[in-house]
Amino acid sequence: MATYVITEACIGVKDATCVDVCPAACIHTTPNAPQYFIDPEICIACEQCFFVCPVDAIFLDADVPAHLEQYLQLNADFFTANKQQATAITPAQAQTVLDAVQRYATSARFTVAAAVVDGAGAAVLANALPGADEATATLALNKAYTAANLQVATHQLGRGAQTPSTAAPEGFDQARMTAQPGGYPITDGALVIGAVGVAGSPTPQQDLQCCQAGLAALHGAGH
Ligand code: SF4
Ligand code: SF4
Repeated sequence: MATYVITEACIGVKDATCVDVCPAACIHTTPNAPQYFIDPEICIACEQCFFVCPVDAIFLDADVPAHLEQYLQLNADFFTANKQQATAITPAQAQTVLDAVQRYATSARFTVAAAVVDGAGAAVLANALPGADEATATLALNKAYTAANLQVATHQLGRGAQTPSTAAPEGFDQARMTAQPGGYPITDGALVIGAVGVAGSPTPQQDLQCCQAGLAALHGAGH
């Protein structure tokens, strides 16, 4: 079946204009990937992305110029890699993140709720530290859920990040989406393997710093 393909002109632009118009939600990227890619298994070849790309990066597969033909494979490989990857952070990694969040909050003398989810947003570990109420714990979980599914830090959503809700995977629960700071994707190389969410700090900025402490511990631990 025909598919559209994103090629090198997207590199450095990556403005997600095409994501906004795609009815199949099959255009994705990761924070570290240089461009967006189209999933050839899902694209319905409706042409909408082709019309809106400001730099003419998108072609029908049959029309890809010879010097850009490698992008046929690059687009497909991006999704193959993602689908083959076990999209879950391990419980041990999740514990490393949560322990670091807890240490950070304790040393700063405040109480938070924190959660780590897998790449699809399902909880791997959640811990409400003493004093954090249920609503705070739910908010932490929703921050992680949002960051995992939209593959973006939640505070960037509040700034109009290049990952609109239309990029959310099928089944994404919009009611759980939050743009409050304190949700971060956890990546393994270019792939999102989970996310951490923190809520309940005295300021939103401190929720965010708790997440960063968790991520620093994970990457510093050599995972
Ligand atoms: S051709 Fe249509 S379905 Fe395919 S990526 Fe573009 S907008 Fe999405
Ligand atoms: S509209 Fe074009 S430049 Fe923008 S993300 Fe899509 S392919 Fe890349």
